[in-house]
Amino acid sequence: MLRPDLLERATRRAAERAAAGGLRRLRVAERGPGRHVEIAGRRLLSFASNDYLGLAGHAAVRGALIECAAREGVGATAAHLLGGHGREHDALERELAAWLGRERALLFSSGYAANLGVLSALLGADDVCVQDRLNHRSLLDAARLCAAELKRYRHADADSAARQLASRPGAAALLATDGVFSMDGDVAPLRELAVLCAAEGATLMVDDAHGIGVLGEDGRGSVDEAGLDADEVPVLMVTLGKALGCAGAAVAGDAELVEALVQFAGTYIYTTALPPALAAATRAALAIARHERWRRDRLGVLIAHFRRGAERRGLALAASRTPIQPVFAGESGRALALAEHLERRGYFVPAIRPPTVPQGQARLRVALSALHRESELDALLDALAEGMAALDHDALAGPSPAARRTPTGRVRHLRPGPARDRA
Ligand SMILES: *Cc1c(COP(=O)(O)O)cnc(C)c1O
Repeated sequence: MLRPDLLERATRRAAERAAAGGLRRLRVAERGPGRHVEIAGRRLLSFASNDYLGLAGHAAVRGALIECAAREGVGATAAHLLGGHGREHDALERELAAWLGRERALLFSSGYAANLGVLSALLGADDVCVQDRLNHRSLLDAARLCAAELKRYRHADADSAARQLASRPGAAALLATDGVFSMDGDVAPLRELAVLCAAEGATLMVDDAHGIGVLGEDGRGSVDEAGLDADEVPVLMVTLGKALGCAGAAVAGDAELVEALVQFAGTYIYTTALPPALAAATRAALAIARHERWRRDRLGVLIAHFRRGAERRGLALAASRTPIQPVFAGESGRALALAEHLERRGYFVPAIRPPTVPQGQARLRVALSALHRESELDALLDALAEGMAALDHDALAGPSPAARRTPTGRVRHLRPGPARDRA
């Protein structure tokens, strides 16, 4: 019998995805230090960045990186355990641990790698891993990698989590949740989950990729904001590439946890350490994130402004109080058409489609930064409302009341469908 050809099969799957309007598209985005990107020769105001505090382009952060690279070179040249662990890594781990109120912190190359490392180090085939349905893909992949039984519960529903835990009494259990959900912007019910884990003897892990720097006292994240400590949340994963504007991740917890990761987390042991200059830059970013409170205050003002403006314009928002403000569009084609409409107006807002989000919940993921201005949010919201109205107009037989209100004659530009992604 002839074997199926793997590349042929992959090509066929991509073609099927393209036909369904779901093809992902890689584009070159030239970033400046601020809130603009240049794509296909056009300068766009970006609402795509997770650089919530505006630190990725900060002069002190860039300066720390350049200074360290000039001193130590670029690459770490080896894994942490084989000579790649330098002074900057060590100092950053200590500073992260002190900030987060944990005994120790351990650096990983990315949040994805950290999640794979933690779950594979802690869980075995006889164990159960209970996860929110909307957890980040890296947590779901991590559960598959460690061969523990994966049980998913209804989004942000501690009762549903309790039922999943109860279905495996006696099994060692890790309950893992995003602190802030990356595509919805809402915050997990951390207190309820902590109470549940304490009662059930399960270990609670929070992936706070989007909460760190943004929520809590001094930006310590969603766990701090919920008033939970290291006993209640023994495993805390934070990423360094979002609000901190750099790259990499850290897992913070008791010395015993970190020692277990050093011994058993493959994605820690068998990979080159982060460039030391990146650790130096992250130290600079951390100092700014902690002490420049105005950045969080500005974000709060902008989030409230955006939500008020969206409500006034009748746009469907999620229940989010974080800088992640999804605007729901429905089907993939609608989200794509809206994203293209916004791009023509000078805004870069990515459309998020299934399978990243559930069917029928395609959306524009608007990410706010402390560097945005109120007037920019107003202009984006106007463009969004105009786009929504034009879509409704096209979808209906005659012009809807919404479409008639559209201030410009450019309705024809918008057409739901796979559009450019077919290319
Ligand atoms: C972005 C993200 C990750 C992955 O972090 P990287 O450092 O980008 O690999 C993990 N978990 C969540 C919830 C995220 O949003």
